[in-house]
Amino acid sequence: MSVARTEQAAKLRVEGVSRVFLGPRGGETVALAPTDLTVAANDFITILGPSGCGKSTLLRIVAGLDRPSSGRVLLNGKPVIGPGPDRGMVFQSYTLFPWLTVGQNIAFGLRERNVPTREQADIVDTYLGRMGLKGFEHHLPRQLSGGMQQRTAIARALANDPDILLMDEPFGALDNQTRALMQELLLDIWERDRKTVLFVTHDIEEAIFMASRVVVMTARPGRIKADVPVDLPHPRRYTIKTTPEFNALKARLTEEIRVEAVLAAQAG
Ligand code: ADP
Ligand code: MG
Repeated sequence: MSVARTEQAAKLRVEGVSRVFLGPRGGETVALAPTDLTVAANDFITILGPSGCGKSTLLRIVAGLDRPSSGRVLLNGKPVIGPGPDRGMVFQSYTLFPWLTVGQNIAFGLRERNVPTREQADIVDTYLGRMGLKGFEHHLPRQLSGGMQQRTAIARALANDPDILLMDEPFGALDNQTRALMQELLLDIWERDRKTVLFVTHDIEEAIFMASRVVVMTARPGRIKADVPVDLPHPRRYTIKTTPEFNALKARLTEEIRVEAVLAAQAG
């Protein structure tokens, strides 16, 4: 019975997904070994792994921006065959349309889908407010700080009310202070809306702080080596990062990652 319940609640299923890149002279790079991952509705999954282990490759395949060499991805039980508005993507940086204002960037997907203008304006207004961007609607991205650009990118993704939010090191280019504030802002949104989120990071504290589950990947070719539930209570504030429970998780994940980083360094 519990199996049937899990099946029903699965928002996303990654089944035996691998990716092999062919080199210019016929060599092969196995970026991702066959990987299985099930994400339940309303889960906040962070994927933690060393650089080059295939995290972005996995996320791009889920987004439909790349095709797997084997396996398949199911979203709400339906195979993913390309990009779609049911998946909202946020990358590390430089993803806003530089010639569009903040408001136009947030409205982009709504316009593509011909949402009525009045409704577009309401949705844009809501996310300007929730992301602390009120007053910046008519600014261009280059007039904003890195943190505000990322808030705009998140607002743009959320405005489409996606089934799942796919985030690839979204705070990776921000300074530590801004990064910590962005983590709290995103978590606050998740605590209110219970979005389903798949969030890639190589920052251990970030992975624990945000997640209901941390998935650890091995060095290339990446595969999932650990799947660690994070039972820290909500709402979470930054002060939780100094609790014994948080530190116990950090110690465990640090060890998992350290082994992988050593292996990755040896592999060159
Ligand atoms: P991560 O995001 O974990 O840092 P990536 O998914 O970007 O890792 O890359 C995994 C591996 O696949 C790396 O060795 C990378 O060089 C390789 N790779 C990624 N994209 C391509 C591509 N388009 N062509 C060839 N190799 C690629
Ligand atoms: Mg990456």
